[in-house]
Amino acid sequence: MDPETDALNELHRRLSGLRDGRVADYIPQLALADPDDFGIALVSMGGNTYRAGKADSVFTLQSVSKPFVYALALGDLGPRETLRHVGVEPSGNAFNAISLEPGTGRPANPMINAGAIATTALVRADGPAERFGRILACLSAFAGRTLDVDEDVYASEAATGDRNRALAYLMRSAGSLRADPAEAADTYFRQCAVRVTAADLAVMAATLANGGRNPVTGVRVVAEPDAVRTLAVMATCGMYDGAGQWLLDVGLPAKSGVSGGLIAASPGRFGVAVHSPPLDASGKPVRAVAALGEMAERFGLHIMHNS
Ligand code: GLN
Repeated sequence: MDPETDALNELHRRLSGLRDGRVADYIPQLALADPDDFGIALVSMGGNTYRAGKADSVFTLQSVSKPFVYALALGDLGPRETLRHVGVEPSGNAFNAISLEPGTGRPANPMINAGAIATTALVRADGPAERFGRILACLSAFAGRTLDVDEDVYASEAATGDRNRALAYLMRSAGSLRADPAEAADTYFRQCAVRVTAADLAVMAATLANGGRNPVTGVRVVAEPDAVRTLAVMATCGMYDGAGQWLLDVGLPAKSGVSGGLIAASPGRFGVAVHSPPLDASGKPVRAVAALGEMAERFGLHIMHNS
């Protein structure tokens, strides 16, 4: 076995014993997740995939969708126009915080829910069906295969997502949301319910790390400057209220989601993904955070590292 797979297997074996955290249940369907599902995958810039554990278990993207849809919106509108609608400053708040810029109502960044809903609404389309179609096609191109929606998870969030709907209405009243609030929230719920595996997520992260070109399929998904911008926003805002500590400890642009997925990108080197449903108090997957912390330290991955 190659040394990369050996290292991932060893990490997986050790962290399987970590039993902290709780599976998210505020979206009822997410509570059905198996807390012992645990997979790790890594994709190099040469397109090689290394995996450990259940890297083929299927789960929904949730907030891990946010950076990819942000990259799509950047391509549609350009950075200046995108910035008029969604900021790029860490909020220091939880993912579902009601933190809108006083006066403009602009959300702090595209990684919190408010910013993600506003970003989704920016994707160019003639109507909701075309908008979601473009989002799904983009997510699929990042993954290198055709993805689909978990209709049960979508329906479950649509039935309980009043806080996100409220955020959309608040932004509309402040003038920062370009679309119908109900439609924007609904499209956001759909993008969160797109089904992936840890192996898919590693390819998606590797595509960002590779300047927007999928290293497995060779297809350019987003322009290089937009991939770089997206990684920069992930570095400062991807881990919500823990973003500063994450950059200090792990030092890689990253994004987590409440179904237990986490991606991190080492620019020009690889993309990595971990899936493990139990979350800590701020909604980050416990085993994934531990795995990335260990990998970064052991292999000197910190972006500020001098080699
Ligand atoms: N769909 C979830 C929500 O809006 C995503 C949150 C997350 O993964 N942090 O609540």
